[in-house]
Amino acid sequence: MDEIVTNLQQILKRIEVSCNRAGRNPEEVKLLLATKTVPAERIKVALNAGQTLIGENKVQELKEKFEALKETPHTKHFIGHLQSNKIKDILKCNVACIQSLDRFDLAEKLHQRLQAEGKTIEVFIQVNTSDEESKFGASPESTIELVKQVAQLEALKVKGLMTIGLFSYETEKVRACFRLLKSIQQQIIGLKISNVEMNELSMGMSGDMETAIEEGATIIRVGTAVFGQRIYPDSYYWNESKG
Ligand SMILES: *Cc1c(COP(=O)(O)O)cnc(C)c1O
Repeated sequence: MDEIVTNLQQILKRIEVSCNRAGRNPEEVKLLLATKTVPAERIKVALNAGQTLIGENKVQELKEKFEALKETPHTKHFIGHLQSNKIKDILKCNVACIQSLDRFDLAEKLHQRLQAEGKTIEVFIQVNTSDEESKFGASPESTIELVKQVAQLEALKVKGLMTIGLFSYETEKVRACFRLLKSIQQQIIGLKISNVEMNELSMGMSGDMETAIEEGATIIRVGTAVFGQRIYPDSYYWNESKG
């Protein structure tokens, strides 16, 4: 358990170092703890050490940990692939933001449900910047149109974009994904779409957070570097057929 606290200190240091290198203020970069497969007790250790933002990938896990984490103050984002038949469940779990909105039919269903409940929710549009079949996300070419459409749904508050970078040891290829996300963000800002804010760029994970920070990330999503290696391969979380 102490390991989690030590790991957190190291990550905060990494954020600081890369911000310094990029000429950014470390306060511009929020740390989101990617807590898939991590039991509530371990998440609590991180929250008690001062962390406030967590992200879950699966509605099932969200539900399982909801009660256990209720008394510990934190903000929850959803960062996994969302099926429309899970919308009701997700809204019961106090999720502040869905970072993985990637298609209009899902947005519409979400909107209907929110209106029925008299609620609103923050969303990021997930963009598939690496052009990998295995990853979810709107294509870069269709993202602006999707943002315009989602902007019409007043219960959805668009706050930014999210991407998962290419898994590669070639830093420059990974960097290209993050640059692409940033450039789409800039184009959207230029369009001044009403009901759309574009301040957030959620990009960068344990292996590529430095590159993402250099390219303008405002939220990095870190799992392994805090909680250790997961038993399940990530394809378990990212693959529709296993969803
Ligand atoms: C698991 C996950 C992360 C964190 O990945 P690590 O490599 O463990 O830091 C970030 N984003 C998403 C969408 C994830 O599913």
